[in-house]
Amino acid sequence: MITIGIDIGGSSIKAALTDAGQRIVARTRRPTMAEYERERTISQIDECIGELLAHVEARDVEGIGVGVPGAIDLENGVVYYPPNLPGWGEVPLADILSRKWDIPVRLDNDANCAALGEAHFGAGRQREHFVGLTLGTGVGAGIIIGGRIYHGQRGFAGEFGHITINSDGPLCNCGNHGCVEAYVGIHYMMREAIPLLRADMNGLLYQRAIANPESLMPVDLSEAAQQGDTTSRDILRDTGKRLGIAIASAANLLDITTFLIGGGIAAAGDPLFEGIIESAIARVLKVHRDSLTILPAELGNDAGMLGAASLML
Ligand SMILES: [Zn+2]
Repeated sequence: MITIGIDIGGSSIKAALTDAGQRIVARTRRPTMAEYERERTISQIDECIGELLAHVEARDVEGIGVGVPGAIDLENGVVYYPPNLPGWGEVPLADILSRKWDIPVRLDNDANCAALGEAHFGAGRQREHFVGLTLGTGVGAGIIIGGRIYHGQRGFAGEFGHITINSDGPLCNCGNHGCVEAYVGIHYMMREAIPLLRADMNGLLYQRAIANPESLMPVDLSEAAQQGDTTSRDILRDTGKRLGIAIASAANLLDITTFLIGGGIAAAGDPLFEGIIESAIARVLKVHRDSLTILPAELGNDAGMLGAASLML
């Protein structure tokens, strides 16, 4: 079965053509252009599809799967108010694309697609039940139960980023205080990190934190931590600890003890994972303690596309 998988992110659209063995045989990407009206973004998606269809006969493509950063009406293929695509509102994206290309289209949430990708091709391959976390601008999760995505009653399950870990914590995009995302989302995390880096005059990132703070990203912290910078290591470790609080709660709630950590911040490596494990083990109920397994995801940026392509299986 030849399929197309598309991963729509806030800044770029990634798309791949997969062959019968679900291997990527061609790929492309375009800027999302989320700052323009939605037709612009949809035409970027169309350009990706057009480019990939140049490699095959269109009639051989059995479906297009699309991961979208927002809530989805799965049955009708409608996207609802994706927060990182401000001009969208309610968009019947499956209809729009399938009419244009005459190919069946299925949508799902982007974090669900990433978890599904890991389930089929990555770190979740041998695992029936796990939670796949995607740490980026937002913090999303796909809950895999029995090898399938758990969508919840209306399709909105997996909003891991909006679990409250501190009722008096910083204000989150969703309007609540102290959500996981308000600590671990890239912008929130760096906003909290900058004053700490500025306070460490001997730290490796001191100069940049003073002169050019907006250029700093989590990957800079992890590189500095690897070179022995203790402030960077502590920031990553504390971020991990906060994530671990919510992971322990999720494990207690779901009786799922495997968590795969993917997305940009996950590349921060050891200090982050040490923090996660330390706080999750300390908080999870004793019955889960021995089986708690926290692993890096394996597919990196391909997880969303591969998962989206496998929506058609
Ligand atoms: Zn929130």
